[in-house]
Amino acid sequence: MENSVRDTVVLGTGCAGLTAAIYAARANLKPLVIEGHEPGGQLSLTTLVENFPGFPEGIQGPELIENMRKQAARFGAEFMAGHLAKADLTARPFKLDFGDGKTITARTLIIASGASARWLGLPSEQTLIGHGVSSCATCDGFFFKDKPITVIGGGDSAMEEALFLTRFATKVTLIHRRDHFRASKIMLERARKHEKIEFMPDTVVEDIYDVSKKEVTGLKLRNVKTGRIWVFPTSAMFLGIGHEPNAKMFAGQLDMDQDGYLKTRDFVFTNVAGVFACGDVQDRRYRQAITAAGSGCAAAMEVEKFLEEHGQ
Ligand code: NAP
Repeated sequence: MENSVRDTVVLGTGCAGLTAAIYAARANLKPLVIEGHEPGGQLSLTTLVENFPGFPEGIQGPELIENMRKQAARFGAEFMAGHLAKADLTARPFKLDFGDGKTITARTLIIASGASARWLGLPSEQTLIGHGVSSCATCDGFFFKDKPITVIGGGDSAMEEALFLTRFATKVTLIHRRDHFRASKIMLERARKHEKIEFMPDTVVEDIYDVSKKEVTGLKLRNVKTGRIWVFPTSAMFLGIGHEPNAKMFAGQLDMDQDGYLKTRDFVFTNVAGVFACGDVQDRRYRQAITAAGSGCAAAMEVEKFLEEHGQ
């Protein structure tokens, strides 16, 4: 598998990567799809997905991803576990180095490596993801109708999540680790003015209860100024503490914005001919499964066109 030059390599197995793989496979390009350290991407971390068109009753995130994977494999996509260590995009075919002497060359590259949500890093948090702990208000807010909800963070994402969640929650408590907010003035004011949102600054989460019940019942909090520790009852904790695009390995070769998201023009074109980017690694605005899938489709169609124009 490693010695031949691939027509296309798809980096990532989230919604964007798998959609690109389906389209590339159906174009007979036999894509090699690289499955990294978060196989399935963010959908595999969520539970019921109710906003992906075509599933009137909703579908479990991991099931949706598994279906896409099977669909890509059915048309000839090959999968390889690996973590891209280095890439040489200075000449075609591109050289992709996966460490341990494993190198793959490819005529085109589709980067769909996503963005990883930042987490607090508590063991209880990992156990309760999908059971009251979430990093996506649009995806999971609906499950907490008429319940008190907590949002963590002090940037625009946290404000946006808090405002969105007021549609469902009886009350939204916004917990932030200091008393200064990064959020834009307009978003901050909007959140501050909302009758359902209560601000709790200078506070950090030390633990999440209740792992034994597999649901969120409360948070152990600490006020960083007074040292006070207490248990705060809540039904859900939404993280709005930012995302990290998985594109560091392309630093110096591909154009990125100040936060490391890949810059694209015309939807999926990077600054290197033959390298396309799709999904959350290049989209900080929508970050939805359906928009990621759409850009994955576009990337594969551009690969097909590129190979036609530049010869196999
Ligand atoms: P961000 O601006 O980096 O803010 C992250 C927030 O999370 C900060 O308040 C930070 O606290 C906090 N945080 C980070 N790590 C933490 C931890 N381990 N524990 C507790 N708190 C932690 O990220 P973002 O809000 O996702 O926004 C990213 C970019 O997208 C920004 O440029 C933003 O304007 C843009 N955006 C815009 C919109 C919009 O306009 N509608 C919506 C979403 C995002 P500190 O402040 O103490 O570091």
